[in-house]
Amino acid sequence: MYAEIVSIGEELLSSESETVDTNSVYITRQLGALGIRVLYKTTVGDHEARITETLKAALARVDLVITTGGLGPTVDDMTRQGVAAAFGRGLSLQQPLLDDITEKFRRFGVRMSENNRVQAMLPDGAQPIHNPVGTAPGFIVTEGPKIMMSLPGVPREMKAMMEQTVLPHLQARLGGEVSVQKTRVLRTAGIGESLIDEQIGHLEHLQNPTVGLNAHSGQTDIRITARTTTAEEANALIATVEAEIREKLGEFIYGVDRDPLEGAFMTLLRNVVGRLTLVEIGTDGLLRRRIESQPGASELIHVLSGPALDEISARFGDEGNGLEPRQVAEQIAQSLLQQVAGGLVIVLIARDTRSAVCVRGGDEVRSRGYGYNLSQAAPEWASGWALSMGWHLLKTLEARRADSHP
Ligand code: AMP
Ligand code: MG
Repeated sequence: MYAEIVSIGEELLSSESETVDTNSVYITRQLGALGIRVLYKTTVGDHEARITETLKAALARVDLVITTGGLGPTVDDMTRQGVAAAFGRGLSLQQPLLDDITEKFRRFGVRMSENNRVQAMLPDGAQPIHNPVGTAPGFIVTEGPKIMMSLPGVPREMKAMMEQTVLPHLQARLGGEVSVQKTRVLRTAGIGESLIDEQIGHLEHLQNPTVGLNAHSGQTDIRITARTTTAEEANALIATVEAEIREKLGEFIYGVDRDPLEGAFMTLLRNVVGRLTLVEIGTDGLLRRRIESQPGASELIHVLSGPALDEISARFGDEGNGLEPRQVAEQIAQSLLQQVAGGLVIVLIARDTRSAVCVRGGDEVRSRGYGYNLSQAAPEWASGWALSMGWHLLKTLEARRADSHP
C-alpha cells in the first residue's frame, strides 16, 4: 500500500514561523514499520480550496492519505471541510462526539465556547478517532480502496492517536497483504557516491527491494529495503540484491547496518601494519578522538605533537608557502615515511576553506584535496575522508598480502 502525508497549516509555510513539519517524519517511520511506503509528502496552508484540491490529488495517486493539522475549533482550521469536499460529502454533527467534547471541557474546568461544537462535525460517513490527550477528535473516511485519516497537528495528540487507533486499524486492514519491512545497510568507504552510483545505478530503479544511497564525508551507505509478507521473503529479496552489490563493490564495503568505520579501521590497522602515525593540523584532534573511541587504539597510535609538529608546521607556514594543502599533506607524509617504516601514515590539514588528506602505507600513497567554501565542515570532512582512505589503503595491503601468501 502506498501513502501520502498531507501536512496542513499556514505556520508550516510561513517564512517567519519556526514550526518544522516533524509530524510527517514520525508518520513516515510508523508507516514504514508496517511496510507502507510514503510516496508523497505535501504541505498546504489553511485555505479550504487549496486543501480540497491537494486532498483530491492525493486520493488520485495513492490509497492511503494521512493529514495532520487544521482540526482545531477556530475559523482557520479547515481540514474537515476540505476532507468532506474532497470526497464530495457534507458535514454533520455527531452527537456522541459533542457529548464527549462537552464532558472533556467540564472535566478540565474550562468553559466551552460555541465554536468548539465544530469539532464534533465530521464528514458524512466518517468514523471518529478518539483523542486521548486533547479535545479535537480525528476521523477516518473510506471509499472503495481509498482511505483518508485526519489527525490534529499537535505532535503529542497526533502520536497518541497514531499508536492507539491508526496503526492498529491499518494493520487490520492490511491483513496478511504486507506486514514486514526489512532494511539492510551496506556501509562503504574509500569510494565516492558518484562512482557507486555508476556501478549500481540500475538497482536504484527497483521497486522491491528499493536501493538508495546516503553519502557522508568519505562514506556512503547503500540502503536496501524490502517490503513483503514474511521476514524470510524480505531477507531473500535483500540477499539477491546484496550479492550483486558485493560482486561490484565488495572491496569498498567495510560493514553493515550500524557498524562504525572506526572499528573496521582499527581491526585492519592491528592486523595489517600494527601502527599509525597521525598528523592533524586544524582539526582540533577530531580524527584522533574518533580512532581512540575504539578499545586498545591508543597503544597503536603515535600522534605527532609538540616540537615535532611545530617544526613541520613552521616549514610550511600558516598558508603553506604557496602550496595547496594537498601538496603540503603529501610532503609531510613523505618526510615521515623514513621515520615510520612499516606503519600507516595519515596527514590531514583543515584550513578555513581548504582541506586535504594524505595516507601512506607500504608503497601506496593516496591524497585528496577539498576546496569548497565550507569552513565549518572542513574538520569533519577531512577526518571522515582520512579514516575512509586509511581503511581502504589497509584493505588493499591486506588483499595484496593474501595474494602473495596464498
Ligand atoms: P493545528 O492542529 O493545525 O491547530 O496545529 C496545532 C499546533 O500543532 C500548531 O500550532 C503547531 O505548533 C503544531 N503542528 C501542526 N502541524 C505540525 C506538523 N506537521 N509538525 C509539527 N508540528 C505541527
Ligand atoms: Mg493549524
